[in-house]
Amino acid sequence: MSKLQEIYDEARQYFIGGASAGGRFNSTLQQPLYLKSASGSRIIDADGKAYIDYHTGSGAAFFGHNHPRLREAAEKAMDMGFFMNFETEYHKELAKLFHEFFPCAERVRFSNSGTEVTMAAVRVARAYTGKDIVIRFEGHFHGMNELVWYNHNGARGKKNDIGEVENISDTAGTPQCFSEVIRNVEYNDLESFERCVEAHKGQIAGVLLEPVSFNCGCYPAQKAFLEKVREICSREGIVLIFDEVITGLRMRPGSAQAYYGVTPDLATFAKAIGGGFPIAALCGKKEVMEVLNPLGRTIMSGTYTGALMPVLTSIECMKMAMEPDFYDHIDALADTLYGGMNALMKKHGIPGHVRGIGARFGIYFGVENPEDDYNWRKAGDSYRCDMTKSFLIKSLRDGLYMHDCGQAAPAHYGFSVQHTMEDIEITLNKFDKIFKEMKE
Ligand code: PLP
Repeated sequence: MSKLQEIYDEARQYFIGGASAGGRFNSTLQQPLYLKSASGSRIIDADGKAYIDYHTGSGAAFFGHNHPRLREAAEKAMDMGFFMNFETEYHKELAKLFHEFFPCAERVRFSNSGTEVTMAAVRVARAYTGKDIVIRFEGHFHGMNELVWYNHNGARGKKNDIGEVENISDTAGTPQCFSEVIRNVEYNDLESFERCVEAHKGQIAGVLLEPVSFNCGCYPAQKAFLEKVREICSREGIVLIFDEVITGLRMRPGSAQAYYGVTPDLATFAKAIGGGFPIAALCGKKEVMEVLNPLGRTIMSGTYTGALMPVLTSIECMKMAMEPDFYDHIDALADTLYGGMNALMKKHGIPGHVRGIGARFGIYFGVENPEDDYNWRKAGDSYRCDMTKSFLIKSLRDGLYMHDCGQAAPAHYGFSVQHTMEDIEITLNKFDKIFKEMKE
């Protein structure tokens, strides 16, 4: 019996589904993949099989696995006492780096995870405005936060007469009353957004969005849409929140807010900023952030927030991202991988396309028109789950790890800073064979 099977059989006796986290169940494998180790761009499973990693720790391993500079930073924390629940000069150094790098970061507060930090962002928006309603967008994901966890996993709510989408919670256990203060709108649909703001005038605390929704492929904002949302939020006194948990660091210097040239009032970061160590950050305009304790009476704190080890690794991540040629490497890999995949799909007559920005991408099997990527519903209409499944099974077989949580919308994949052009070439050669097989 394989070691993988052995671990799975035993793990099921203690864990639901054989995994300590639901998201680690790989629906293509119909079990979790148990690992032995990971290094650079590779993960090694319990049976010793190596994969080029296109999951990259749900995006947290953007700097690859076991990066020597991050190891060094973690060791420094070990030498300092590793956990004190105190501030150090390094906390201040990290906040300064955020301030220099992210346009909205006049003030910074740390947290542990993307989920926690988006919860805090919503709390801050409500405290600052004294209002309750939050507008969010269909398909967007903001963590396991039932305050805003609706309509992500392929569910399509009915639209009402002003174009608002019915809230469908992504998890059981959400109190119905939470839904009363959440309005859902289609992304890039300016008319519905304007009507929604008008209908709830004077009651809206915040607008929460993923500037590029990588959580169901790669659904970018149209620049004009985002600019108009910014304009309306400023006019109406609504706090604009960018959830940059995925886009943060991965796309461009300054992340999505710099890419679009639209500065939100608040932005949340996690995943890549810690290089695999748990840290998140709420960044925002001074005036809005001043509702936080100890100045204000909005609480955002915790035993592990700003723990020393992630603070030190995050400093290294930020420094690496600020090096002048950092994004040249990302862009070169991205162009070769996405351009190569699109050419191969064409060569083998596979319907669909790949869209990526920076180090994250979605594969839209069945979606022929790339313009549909701006429209979650339209892309969903022609998206082919069956092709994705066949592709993922073959990729795993051939040593390419593409994670699948079993959602109905395109999953998102990514590479790391430690991926090389050789990794991409190996990958494209494998895809050539896989696409040919898929056509047979
Ligand atoms: N926000 C976005 C955009 C995310 O993609 C995620 C996780 O995938 C989260 C928030 C939640 O982050 P975490 O898993 O660190 O709680």
